[in-house]
Amino acid sequence: MRKSFVIIGLGRFGGSVCRTLVESDQEVLAIDSCEDRVNEYMNIATHAVVANAQDETTLRSLGLRNFDHVIIAIGEDIQASILVTLMAKEMGVPRITAKAQNEYHARVLEKVGADFVVHPERDMGVRIAHKLTSNTMLDFIELSEDYSLAEVKVTAKKFFNQTIEGVNFRRHYNLTIVAIRRGKHELIVSPPANQMILEDDVLLVVGNNQDVDFLDNQMN
Ligand code: ADP
Repeated sequence: MRKSFVIIGLGRFGGSVCRTLVESDQEVLAIDSCEDRVNEYMNIATHAVVANAQDETTLRSLGLRNFDHVIIAIGEDIQASILVTLMAKEMGVPRITAKAQNEYHARVLEKVGADFVVHPERDMGVRIAHKLTSNTMLDFIELSEDYSLAEVKVTAKKFFNQTIEGVNFRRHYNLTIVAIRRGKHELIVSPPANQMILEDDVLLVVGNNQDVDFLDNQMN
């Protein structure tokens, strides 16, 4: 379904979100106060305008509240990011995602009305560190402070050709297998207890970070 987005701030993060949304055929209004940045996105975004988002009259005239989702991707200027989030909320934007620089900034953004707060640098750092320290942990996404979704490759013999219940997965590892990736094309979503696990399968598991690490250690 086609949705409409506004992206405020076309730095590396906002720019990358913009390109990806357009590639998935979404409508994107891109806003930046820097003319060069806007020119860069003129032929990429559905519409691109030069505007200072801190100016409330301008924001209103752009009809922010008529869009499904506003993404505030202002980088360094924390004050501007907070003010724009607040104004977007007051205008009645249905969904607001804002990029935070640090934990304090994140807390304020949540308070003033951001529905989702993202920390791209921090989250990417965590994901990359997990990949670097393990050969079998292919990806790692934090869901909260304690829980995560991870992709773990099956490389330990004790799992080969065993069913999920056969290895007593939930009791021994305290994790839920949400899907199994097999080869390049096969994805077994929500596998039943009698699903066979094969060598080199990739298990998509959800659970506590310590349990995810424990499973990963079992593979090495
Ligand atoms: P990143 O770390 O994602 O590269 P940057 O700090 O480089 O972030 O980019 C943030 C963008 O937000 C810049 O292009 C900047 O011009 C834009 N920006 C900052 N303040 C405002 C504002 N008040 N209105 C519109 N755009 C803004």
